[in-house]
Amino acid sequence: MKIIESPEELQKETSNYRVQGKKIGFVPTMGFLHEGHEQLISQAKKQNEIVVLSIFVNPLQFGEGEDLDHYPRDEKHDREVARRLGVDIIFFPTVKSMYPSEPAIKLSVTKRTNVLCGKSRPGHFDGVVTVLAKLFHLCQPSAAYFGMKDAQQVAVVKALVDDLNFPVEIVPVPTVREKDGLAKSSRNVNLSPHEREEAPAIQKALQKGRKMIKNGEKDIQSVKTAVNTFIENNTHGKIDYIELLSYPNLEPVDRPAGKMILATAVKFEKARLIDNLVFDSNGEITIG
Ligand code: AMP
Repeated sequence: MKIIESPEELQKETSNYRVQGKKIGFVPTMGFLHEGHEQLISQAKKQNEIVVLSIFVNPLQFGEGEDLDHYPRDEKHDREVARRLGVDIIFFPTVKSMYPSEPAIKLSVTKRTNVLCGKSRPGHFDGVVTVLAKLFHLCQPSAAYFGMKDAQQVAVVKALVDDLNFPVEIVPVPTVREKDGLAKSSRNVNLSPHEREEAPAIQKALQKGRKMIKNGEKDIQSVKTAVNTFIENNTHGKIDYIELLSYPNLEPVDRPAGKMILATAVKFEKARLIDNLVFDSNGEITIG
């Protein structure tokens, strides 16, 4: 496994693979790897000859007062996971090497962003697509792997590659969960023991909403209210949003139709947790 810190070196290396006609699979992450990330890497490994994993806590996608300074890191553990899973290149750039000076150009997302996390995190997805545009150029992948845990990110990244014609296939990967249903997340370590006990209620609430639709409920507001009540009754977290929207366009729906996302964000003392379900009008789960 090669460990590369310099963007130029990564681009040189991936250019060599491209010349040899090798298929490169890319897994962008912010590190502190868990089984969710592992699932992305394993799928990339199955579908490509070369797998590049990037670990970069991208300051551009963190707003003021967000957890950039407290974002958990463990490079040694991440290297071990990457080696165990057969990653070919691990890209660990520094902030200085990715942004040697204040960028003169930043991308701006105009759709799929004024809802869900985009609403309470202004500029977040601009930061995500700006760093991904750079990473796609450096890594030159045929396919890039993203978790449905961040379903809005998947929708926005699909728009990025479609609108700017990146020759990259975006592969959505189902959310990996703890046994009790809590979506795996690097941020879960910031939950207190009591909050950790309460947190699985988030997924339970979303499942409850999905089942209402499966059982024929047509009133979107009733579904959202039921999800809200369940989370409020079973956690001390503060609900940031509960939304039911079309997917991947993330537009409001009057009644269940087509592919939809039911999503929530809940703020605990030191961690903001997000989760979602994507399903069709019959309430059957679909991927991406
Ligand atoms: P992060 O390191 O949080 O930026 O996540 C890197 C990638 O891993 C993103 O595409 C996430 O959606 C994905 N990911 C994070 N948690 C999970 C999970 N529990 N299941 C599947 N994918 C995940």
